[in-house]
Amino acid sequence: MDLGSMARARVAVVGAGLSGLMAARRLTAAGVSVVVLEARERVGGRTLTHTTARGERVDLGAQWIGPTQDRVAKLAGDLGLRTFDQHHAGKKVLSLGGTVTTYKSSIPSLSLIGAVDLGITIQRIESLVKEVPADDPLKARKAAEWDGMTVETWQRRNIQTRGARALLDTAVRAVFAAEPSELSLLFFLYYLRQGGGLMRLTEIQNGAQQTRLVEGFQEISKRLAAELGERVVLGAPVRTIRQEEGGCVVVSQRGEVRCERVIVAIPPALSGRIEYEPELPAARDQLTQRMPMGSVIKCVAFYDAPFWRTAGYSGEALGDSGAVKLVFDDSPEDGAHGALVGFIMGKDARALTGKPEARRKAAIDSFVKYFGPSAASPVDYIDQDWPAERWSRGCYAGIMGPGVLSAYSSALRDPVGRVHWAGTETARVWVGYMEGALEAGERAAGEVLAALGQRSALNPPSGAEQ
Ligand code: FAD
Repeated sequence: MDLGSMARARVAVVGAGLSGLMAARRLTAAGVSVVVLEARERVGGRTLTHTTARGERVDLGAQWIGPTQDRVAKLAGDLGLRTFDQHHAGKKVLSLGGTVTTYKSSIPSLSLIGAVDLGITIQRIESLVKEVPADDPLKARKAAEWDGMTVETWQRRNIQTRGARALLDTAVRAVFAAEPSELSLLFFLYYLRQGGGLMRLTEIQNGAQQTRLVEGFQEISKRLAAELGERVVLGAPVRTIRQEEGGCVVVSQRGEVRCERVIVAIPPALSGRIEYEPELPAARDQLTQRMPMGSVIKCVAFYDAPFWRTAGYSGEALGDSGAVKLVFDDSPEDGAHGALVGFIMGKDARALTGKPEARRKAAIDSFVKYFGPSAASPVDYIDQDWPAERWSRGCYAGIMGPGVLSAYSSALRDPVGRVHWAGTETARVWVGYMEGALEAGERAAGEVLAALGQRSALNPPSGAEQ
């Protein structure tokens, strides 16, 4: 669509990630006119699928779904996409304190004392998670105390052994792309609660890393955008949202849209870079100053064959040193060729962002440490430096340090006049994940339909004629 001097739609959606596209789909289904303004020249935001020279697809952004992520699973199925199981058969590698060992269970093998300590720590965390109400973390009995400390502080008080501590550090980085010192304990527990607990979030089988998509997850957004057709405008960063008598004007690089309502479906930190007239209430603006993005760089090395499988390894590795502290098998479904995906997370990502050569070397050195010299010469390599991405500025999602949830949680979702907030950070389930992005898009569309006095075609009010 060419926006011309002034386009009109009942609703403007800012951002063509999963959340914005789901909101637009709901609105369109309810007969409401929509324009989606996307800053990048592509849709999908934090999902990005790369096709290799061999024609294989790898996800450089979101890569897995698991049990209870039903919206994504259903949508993928409805759009004709095919899932397959993450490969996990075989030994896993653990590199701790300079020693490389292997293990088979879901919990890494440590010394006897370390294993007991780790077991107790996991149980403690799982039981604290259950104390946080899924619908309102501030109702937790110890909400104020937990929001007053970091995960790091809790670990120092509760974990006795170096091994258990190192493994929990890696698990925290794996789930949040942040250091334990950056996270409020309450936010950490709430995030785990929304996804179903620590083990659910960290495991492959029955966990959040269980299922991949043959076509890659960006394909969902591509197909949603194809359905929406000209309503999606690429290369259109939104600079200003002006609320006026009777409506709004959304000013983008590709032109202006006059509309009745706006859905901003981007991370809070980026939403703070848009100019608002009149300006946002202090609480919403301060939230945008207090919810930084995590830091992650995803590195994929391609091999002629998944040589680790033949040697009895699953391709999964965990470590406490080097740039890559978490690795999975990233080979295509048929295993005809091999690929390993490594995560550079938290402070390691901050050290290597903007340094492609150093990053590649550090990533391949890590793969060699875990899987031996056969990993030294990949046939191809690619990585994605999310902190350097102008329209993400980090990943997986916005995080909260101490005090933020207590002081600003209502500013996350409360509309400001005619402006509504979506994006995975505002989700009520699986916050930070694709599932959360879809839920947030649905919720924001529902708010807008209610405000427009329009009935959702997908969610008619109970008792209403269908
Ligand atoms: P986004 O995808 O960020 O969409 C926002 C869109 O808005 C973007 O397209 C952006 O370009 C655009 N935009 C930004 N500013 C403006 C502006 N001013 N004007 C117009 N447009 C703008 N989730 C899972 O469920 N499973 C996983 O395995 C998983 N792994 C991940 C691994 C990585 C490396 C990353 C990066 C993320 C991962 N996630 C995973 C998280 C998941 O990708 C996100 O939760 C989800 O994609 C967020 O969707 P969204 O629509 O809320 O936001």
